Order: sequence, then structure tokens, then C-alpha cells
Amino acid sequence: MTANLLDFDLEGLAAFCERLGEKRFRATQLFRWIHQKGATDFDQMSDLAKSLREKLKTTAHLQALPVISQHESADGTIKWLFDVGGGNAVEAVFIPEDDRGTLCVSSQAGCAVGCRFCSTGHQGFSRNLSTGEIVAQLWFAEHFLRRHLQTSGRVISNVVMMGMGEPLQNYSALVPALRVMLDDHGYGLSRRRVTVSTSGVVPMMDRLGEDCPVALAVSLHAPNDALRDNLVPLNRKYPLAELLDACNRYLVHAPRDFITFEYCMLDGVNDQPEHARQLAELVRRHGGSGVSCKLNLIPFNPFPASGLLRSPHSQVQAFAKILSDAGIVTTVRKTRGDDIDAACGQLAGDVRDRTRVGERIAQQRTVMLMPVKPAPGEAKETLRP
Ligand code: SAH
Ligand code: SF4
Repeated sequence: MTANLLDFDLEGLAAFCERLGEKRFRATQLFRWIHQKGATDFDQMSDLAKSLREKLKTTAHLQALPVISQHESADGTIKWLFDVGGGNAVEAVFIPEDDRGTLCVSSQAGCAVGCRFCSTGHQGFSRNLSTGEIVAQLWFAEHFLRRHLQTSGRVISNVVMMGMGEPLQNYSALVPALRVMLDDHGYGLSRRRVTVSTSGVVPMMDRLGEDCPVALAVSLHAPNDALRDNLVPLNRKYPLAELLDACNRYLVHAPRDFITFEYCMLDGVNDQPEHARQLAELVRRHGGSGVSCKLNLIPFNPFPASGLLRSPHSQVQAFAKILSDAGIVTTVRKTRGDDIDAACGQLAGDVRDRTRVGERIAQQRTVMLMPVKPAPGEAKETLRP
């Protein structure tokens, strides 16, 4: 087995180069070829010595994820379904906006947390993605989009770990992947532009604060433990008081001076004025001085098995007003890509019924809305060193 170079952050790649008897600075050159230029063929790497290129051919490879399908929404959102083997698939979503391009990345095939309102949660847990599989989503999307949009400049300016899975339950693969995103020789994203979203894995929030403090979003969804226990089962292990304490500890390291709280608006479940008042009280009073936060209300994206409904617009507005009036910056998330099931919580990776995955993957291949362009390495002509 040769090494998948997408599995390495720069430090890991330097160690790999040293094992090959090469100087560490070679790793920087190699890293830039892979992530900044999207190369996959070692022969393209013209400033590396021929002897090193030959060594790499026998010891290393770059493992792209096969694209099962690609769908483009009327609003420009693009969703890819990637095959991660063994009948599992994961999704990544590109969301273009005027001033940024955001990629929503998956961290696991399925998810073990099992939130009631989440399609990924309903499918159960299959496995953790490797660092290389997390990075491959960004690597593919960035270099595909440069060709698609015919630009040589950077397309993805923000990454949110809000695809399938609970990133903090795949910590050891997550952190090197974040480092690749942040590295100036990699994607060069600032810590503020990389967001980890978590349902509240308290000990790992502390570790992330120490190891790699990027922006943090916490999926709150309820203003009290009784309701949160029911919606986000992980709350039984890490209840709200502990979660909010962890948020305050994280803020010491965070690149922004607030935590983003996500709150999915479920009709008649967590969207009443009383819930808004409780929520305002909770975040303003917790621990005496409260938690510095912004609140992002997410209209629920329904899927058949949930048995839940989206809150009416007027209810969301009324909820937002109570919080704003209490001095909490509150925004309502625009729903993007829901015509292609790419909106929050609709990412099921098409593996809900794993016994029929092969069949469904075959079907997916025939229902692509757009032809899939070749993966970075297959498109040598577009390489602009
Ligand atoms: N596991 C992490 C990150 C992935 S989920 C987490 O839970 O934070 C990303 C966001 O989508 C979370 O805030 C999640 O609560 C929200 N979400 C999940 N299902 C949803 C749905 N059906 N409609 C709207 N938002 C949803
Ligand atoms: Fe997992 Fe997040 Fe979905 Fe909950 S909302 S089941 S933690 S992916």
C-alpha cells in the first residue's frame, strides 16, 4: 500500500519526505502542487527532481473520491455525492454568494448522534472518514470549480464542517484536515473562515480550542434540557450547562469573539415565544455573565421520515424578534439548494437503506443532471503551474 498524500498535513508530509531521505522543504513544494495547483500526476511537478518524482511514483498516490453524481441548483448551489466505498457515500455542497464561496464538507458516513430532525442522523452511523477523504472533498471542489467557472483564482473562501456527520466524533482525522485548509501552502483559509459545527461533544470542544481553534458553531436547537434531550440525544451526556461552560472556555481561544448557535425551527416543537424567552435568558445569564454568541435560526428542511414540519415564516420572525429585542444578534439562514436536497439536514448520502446502496448508486449514475467533469488529476490540460 502506498501512502495517500491527501492524508497528510504539511507536518505529516514533511515527515513522509524525510522517510524517503528528502529534505523537509521538498514537502512544501509537493504540498503546493497538490493543494494549490490541483496536480495528481507526479510528472507535472516540474520543479521536483526527477529522482524524487520516481520515488513518489512507487511510494505514494493521491486518492480522489469517485463522484457518483453532481447536481446544480437553480440558485447556483452544487451538490456532489462521493463514493467512499463499501456501499457508503457522502456529500459536499458548494454555496456561492456575492462575497464568498462556501463549501459544506462531510466528516463521517452517517452519524451516531441521531438527532430527530436530521436526515443523516436517521440513517445511522457507518464509519469515520479519513483525513484524506475529508480533504479530498475540498481538493476536488476547489479545482473542479476553477475549471467550471474558468478562473485561476481561489473559488472556495470558506469551509463549514456542516455536511454529514459529527466532526468532533472524528477528531483525529478532523484536525489534520483543518490544518490543510488553514496552511498558507495549502488552501490558506483564515481560522475565521473555517467553521466546525458540533452537536456538543464537550471534551472535544476543549481539545479543539487547544489544538486548532477555528470558528465554532454549536447546534443548540432547544432552550432547556428536557427538550434538547429529546431532539439531540447527546444532550443526555453533555447537558446544556456543561455545553455552555465549554463554549465559554472555547471563546478564550476562538478566532472570533462569539460562538454561533444554530437553532433549527420545528413547528410547534421548539418555536414558541416561550422558547425564545427561555433561550434569551439562558444565553444571557449562564454562569453569571452569559455566553457571547450569535444565533442562527435555520428553517427546518423536511424529509419524509422525520414526521416534523417547518415553522411558518411568521413564527420564525416572531421568534427572532424576541431574541433581537433581548440584545442577541439573530439571523435567519437562507435556505439554499433545497431543490436538489442539498439544504442543511437533507444530506443522507443516499445510504439510508444500506442493503440497496449498490443499486441506488447505479441509479444515481443515470440520473445525473450535469455531466461530471474529470477529477483534478484527469484534467492535465487545465493545470497552470
Ligand atoms: N453534526 C454537526 C454538523 C452537521 S449538521 C452538527 O450537528 O452541528 C449541520 C447543521 O444542520 C446543524 O446545525 C444541524 O442541526 C442542522 N440540521 C440538521 N438537520 C437539519 C434539517 N433537517 N433542517 C435544518 N437544519 C438541520
Ligand atoms: Fe449528526 Fe449533526 Fe445530524 Fe445531529 S444534526 S444527527 S449531530 S449530523
